[in-house]
Amino acid sequence: DQGLQKTKEGFLSKITKAIAGKSTVDDEVLDQLEEALVGADVGIDTTLAIIERIEKRVKQDKYVNTTELNQLLQQEIQDMLVEAPDFSYKDFEIPEGKKPYVILVVGVNGVGKTTTIGKLAHNYKKAGKEVILGAADTFRAAAVDQLTIWSERVGVPIVKQAMGSDPSAVAFDTVKSAVARDADVVIIDTAGRLHNKLHLMDELGKIKRVIQKVIPDAPHEVMLVLDGSTGQNALEQARQFTATTEVTALSITKLDGTAKGGVVLAIANQFKIPVKYIGVGEKIDDLIIFNKHEFVDSLFR
Ligand code: GDP
Repeated sequence: DQGLQKTKEGFLSKITKAIAGKSTVDDEVLDQLEEALVGADVGIDTTLAIIERIEKRVKQDKYVNTTELNQLLQQEIQDMLVEAPDFSYKDFEIPEGKKPYVILVVGVNGVGKTTTIGKLAHNYKKAGKEVILGAADTFRAAAVDQLTIWSERVGVPIVKQAMGSDPSAVAFDTVKSAVARDADVVIIDTAGRLHNKLHLMDELGKIKRVIQKVIPDAPHEVMLVLDGSTGQNALEQARQFTATTEVTALSITKLDGTAKGGVVLAIANQFKIPVKYIGVGEKIDDLIIFNKHEFVDSLFR
């Protein structure tokens, strides 16, 4: 079940309750469905979009029973989710002509950024790729320490500098070193201080510029890590980060042990940025490549 047991229970039981004992979809069922979706952290805007589309279908077909409603709902949700068009990431291959492949990882502290970087490094290494990590969150000693632990656990080199040094200098060193070593993948951790948006924007902008001095078309990916267990907070962070920098991929963590996994739908619907990975645990193998069919399946199964 992809570690989504709790989300599934929350989601499915609410929807089942909403339509229990009804034979046809009327306004009352739709009202209850609306409530159920909001309660499952799908978010009000996304919920309204789903309800509106279902209403349209119900009007068109005149009569829709609740089994059909269930199928309709699954279809609407699947259509809403965005999958990454680039399939190479699924087997951790490097797209043609993009070596070293540079991934810049952004997100607020505590969301599971370091863990996600460790898991990603592990997967790339397992696929035979040479990986190098860059500790460009020079603001927190703990961030560098944690990333160092992951680099040892996975068995990949890490580039770091003294606390408080310029993050873009670390990023520059990392890509330089990657080119010198002929590495395949570079994963750079950044500081996630959202309280100062302008500063963050400057910092990320500068990191990108120095990386481009070495590799003009890099970073190839800007991955935003969000904590799925924080529900609507994750949505707000997505809003702020996408306003600050161009985010190309999402990784949503901690979907194990939360009933708030519905937030994935809200994020996908509002930002149209592909969800590439989901985190379902603290261990090295607890990273799943996001597949919308499997995700929706696991919610309704
Ligand atoms: P960072 O501050 O964003 O770098 O966050 P960390 O990677 O240090 O993670 C913060 C905490 O969340 C740690 O205790 C991790 O073990 C935990 N964590 C990260 N990802 C997951 C996940 O997918 N599931 C669970 N249950 N815990 C996670």
